[in-house]
Amino acid sequence: MAKIMAINAGSSSIKFQLLDMPAETVIASGVMERIGLATGIFTLKFDGKKEETNPVLPTHAEGVELLLHTLIEKGILKSLDEITGVGHRVVQGGEYFQDSALIDDEALAKIDKLKDLAPLHNPAHIIGIKAFQKALPNVAQVAVFDTVFHQTMSPECYMYATPYEWYENYGVRKYGAHGTSHQYVSQRTAELLGKDAKDTKIIVCHLGNGASICAVKGGKSIDTSMGLTPLEGIPMGTRSGNLDPTIVSFIAEKENLSASQVVNILNKKSGYLGMSGRSNDARDVTLGMDEGDYRCKLTFDVQAKRIVDYIASYYVLMGGCDAIAFTAGMGENLIHLRKNILDRLTVLGVKLDEEANNVRAVEREITTKDSAIKAFIVPTNEEVMIARDVIRITNK
Ligand code: ADP
Repeated sequence: MAKIMAINAGSSSIKFQLLDMPAETVIASGVMERIGLATGIFTLKFDGKKEETNPVLPTHAEGVELLLHTLIEKGILKSLDEITGVGHRVVQGGEYFQDSALIDDEALAKIDKLKDLAPLHNPAHIIGIKAFQKALPNVAQVAVFDTVFHQTMSPECYMYATPYEWYENYGVRKYGAHGTSHQYVSQRTAELLGKDAKDTKIIVCHLGNGASICAVKGGKSIDTSMGLTPLEGIPMGTRSGNLDPTIVSFIAEKENLSASQVVNILNKKSGYLGMSGRSNDARDVTLGMDEGDYRCKLTFDVQAKRIVDYIASYYVLMGGCDAIAFTAGMGENLIHLRKNILDRLTVLGVKLDEEANNVRAVEREITTKDSAIKAFIVPTNEEVMIARDVIRITNK
């Protein structure tokens, strides 16, 4: 028996889940938000209860101290010695990491070196890791990278047709993201198909605020829609996804902005938010669509069209497809978006079961028995993957 903490540290927040392994049950979970501001928010869920307090959290270190102290105080843990490992989600592992890794000075230095490629994420992860190292100096810390699952892509999938020196000098290539989710969901989908993962061809649609599509053949990622950064691919909550790069200099000139200011707009003010003019949240855009707002409907249609472009291309790349899996906030909950996507795939023999599709966030098959490609809703579980990796890596 082991109790493992799965951590996702951001610049002003720490999400956590305490799991009992190998049972994979959640003992407690929650988030510390507004770290560094005048008042923080500490949400803790355990025993079917949800408690919220407003402690002052000057830095991540105080957040971690308070979290551990509270776990003891509430009787969730008898002693901190019960925690046998901490797994940290790390967004960018570059080409340094082909697997999750035990965190030592060398691993930390590499994560730090990769901050160029993930300026918002990797520095925040390091702060989180150091806070746990300080609080639990004798406990193994493991980094679980979003990019590792995609390291199996071949050069023809990950290379851009840019000067080769950009790759050699600066690491310009596709790395992808959401790897932990794509891996979990594809493994689970293989189980639902009743097949060994190595005998499957699965397309995972991770559709959250950030969204990416992944072609998983034989249990391995062979291509994915996010690129050097999460901007590439399909339109998302606030990101544009693919576009003609000339738009950057065109708009920079028109609106008197720098290239990085335009890229910032492509990351933060585009996608659902920019197109609908309402919100980055799919629930608000759905409301608009139901009221007959043209731009809201167009937002979903543009995204569905582009998702289907990827599905069609991955179908050919994999030489067929056994199943399409929908996951994350929108993939699990947006009934009309799944229908919009799957109806466009009729030409490949996909047959949606409208009644089965009429659910939110439950694991189930949503195509008819005679559908040529099956489709499933598979709620993602990145924390379980992180906890499994902590056990696997520390047992090595
Ligand atoms: P991320 O983790 O990338 O921030 P999520 O996976 O939480 O994103 O997905 C957020 C998106 O999921 C939002 O657009 C939100 O509107 C949508 N979503 C979440 N719950 C529901 C729901 N019950 N019905 C419709 N959409 C939902």
